[in-house]
Amino acid sequence: MRFGSAIIERCETLGAITEEPGRVTRTYLTPQHRQAGEQILAWMQAASMEASFDALGNVVGRYYAADKNAPVLMTGSHMDSVVDAGKFDGVFGILTAIACVNDLHSRGKRLPYTLEVIAFGDEEGVRFGVTLIGSKALAGRFDNQWLEKLDANGVSMRDAIKDFGGASGNIAEAITGLRRDPAKVLAFVESHIEQGPVLLDQGLAVGVVTAIAGATRVRVRIEGLAGHAGTVPMPGRQDALTAASEMVLAVEKHCTAHADTLVGTVGKLAVSGGGATNVIPGEVVFTIDLRSGDDALRLAALAALEGECRTIAARRKVNIDWDAFFHLSAAPCDPRIQAQFAASVQSQGVAVRHLPSGAGHDAMVFADNLPIGMLFVRCGNGGISHNPRETLSAEDAETATTALLHFLENFEPAALRN
Ligand SMILES: [Zn+2]
Repeated sequence: MRFGSAIIERCETLGAITEEPGRVTRTYLTPQHRQAGEQILAWMQAASMEASFDALGNVVGRYYAADKNAPVLMTGSHMDSVVDAGKFDGVFGILTAIACVNDLHSRGKRLPYTLEVIAFGDEEGVRFGVTLIGSKALAGRFDNQWLEKLDANGVSMRDAIKDFGGASGNIAEAITGLRRDPAKVLAFVESHIEQGPVLLDQGLAVGVVTAIAGATRVRVRIEGLAGHAGTVPMPGRQDALTAASEMVLAVEKHCTAHADTLVGTVGKLAVSGGGATNVIPGEVVFTIDLRSGDDALRLAALAALEGECRTIAARRKVNIDWDAFFHLSAAPCDPRIQAQFAASVQSQGVAVRHLPSGAGHDAMVFADNLPIGMLFVRCGNGGISHNPRETLSAEDAETATTALLHFLENFEPAALRN
């Protein structure tokens, strides 16, 4: 095995760098972030890359083209984690790219572009409640107001950056300086574990991502009429909870009927006042989380569901307040990069499966300005992630890395101009 076992070993090494002994928790601008970054930096340098921390604690390594002015292909992923995380989420995308560079270097092979491998300091947003901080800065989307955000101990992001030793002098200016000029960057590509069971169920080691799903979140408030559980006859009740229950099932039914393109979840539901055994529920509030790789399909589903819920409310004589309070557009992967990834997957003897990403990733931040692409590697153990039971096999790490290497060696910048 050329890459797989060594990459798993490195994931284990990084997994041991944690704020909480016994489980993996590595958040932004902590000593553990510094330590993991130093380790990644050392691996980059050992692979002959020029590497350093930037002003926000991202580690950036460059494998230069023979022509130092050649355009750049960016790749990488995040080195932070959620609380009690798995060992592969994020770091795999960094380590697989370093392994490719190491191999290219050992063969004395330069690429016709400069490959930039980035280990983002924050993607998960655990410490300051802002997600994707590193990639947003590089995409020119860092909001300086975030510098005043406080962590759980009342430490501001600004002070944490200073303590980390990132930016000296004017922090805001240093962050603005991190922005990459889209005219000089060819694309951003990312390898990541799938964090779901699709590839596992299909028996495939790797897959090509079509889009990072967009999402809508809705808060639905149902107002019925509270009443005595013993004295109000069943006909004519205006029970907010039974109405909400019918709506919850309508969400499930609709999304199941469109399971190829849509997922929908009711993750929160509350009976007002906590409810009581002997009271007919007068008010219920619940949420809907709706996601799709295709914005038009998501918006169509949203309209259909709103219509269904209003029909249910009218029939049951309850009031409904529908508040779609959050919208995030899908980030489609560039079809030309998908085609190049598909060829690389095929080169490994793996059938090509295209699939959307239900979870957010660093790549989505660049989608407005750059062509993006993602390669997924199979997540073992039922596809579980953001959990210590997350697994990745050395064989799959091998296949994904060999496919990425094939992609990097055959990447055609010219094809992006078509
Ligand atoms: Zn991740």
